[in-house]
Amino acid sequence: MSDGTDSPGELVRKAKDAGLDLVALTDHDTAAGWPEAAAAAREIGIGFVPGMEISTQLDDRAIHLLAYLPDPTYEPLVDELDAVLLGRAGRVPTMVAKLQELGIVITEDDVFAQSEDAAATGRPHVADALVALGVVASRDEAFEHYLGWGKPAYARRYAAPFDTMVRLVAGAGGVTVIAHPWGRRSVPWPDEAELARMREVGLTGIEVDHEDHAPEQRDRLRAIARNLGLAATGASDYHGTGKIAHDLGVNTTAADQVERLLEAAAAASQASGRETPEAVLP
Ligand code: AMP
Repeated sequence: MSDGTDSPGELVRKAKDAGLDLVALTDHDTAAGWPEAAAAAREIGIGFVPGMEISTQLDDRAIHLLAYLPDPTYEPLVDELDAVLLGRAGRVPTMVAKLQELGIVITEDDVFAQSEDAAATGRPHVADALVALGVVASRDEAFEHYLGWGKPAYARRYAAPFDTMVRLVAGAGGVTVIAHPWGRRSVPWPDEAELARMREVGLTGIEVDHEDHAPEQRDRLRAIARNLGLAATGASDYHGTGKIAHDLGVNTTAADQVERLLEAAAAASQASGRETPEAVLP
């Protein structure tokens, strides 16, 4: 329901075909795909954990925050996610205007034709519009020439304050894991001291095994997770055909780490009094 190219149900079925026991759906900033994914998981017999990948920022730096099992009706969380989604939609005209200034014939409708019924519009949809218009050959090329940070059609958008969002997810009975923290960064940040601070705010885990992390980065992050008592997770960050080299199952999370997340979510739910949506266990 954001920038992946499979429907939630298709994704869950493909996860089963890939041999996974359990899969999490983590659309950008929306829970809209959970019911369809959970129904498909029950039908075909695969575990399912509802999640989201929330756009946050800390000291002007973008951080993607995975939130598992929050109550999606918790109003303070809904309000903050709405602000993020509004920022996403509001950025489209800015990017389109910048592309037009570069002489590219593109309209907002071209972009929204790509995002269709997605709840979260993103740069990949602008990239898809550029592909459909024949301006570039792929999403990657669109990011490289126009949409990536520092490129001519890049535009900032609102992201939720990191600490606030960690607390909101906990308040909604969920748990948070920092997504691919050292992927696509020139320096390894957040470092151990900052991750320790994040743990004090309420962070539960670090996504260690991710295709954007080199083997030595994974080793260092795994050691940090161990030192700090944080869960270490792994994920494909699969986007269907929207992202190459992120095949389903390319990285996985060990069963004991899944267990830790489920236990932490159960504790957060008890503390907050919020009903978290039920995970489908394999
Ligand atoms: P946005 O959420 O609009 O800021 O766009 C970020 C999304 O674009 C994330 O899902 C990224 O994985 C994706 N993305 C970033 N760089 C690329 C790229 N070079 N090719 C395809 N997708 C990308």
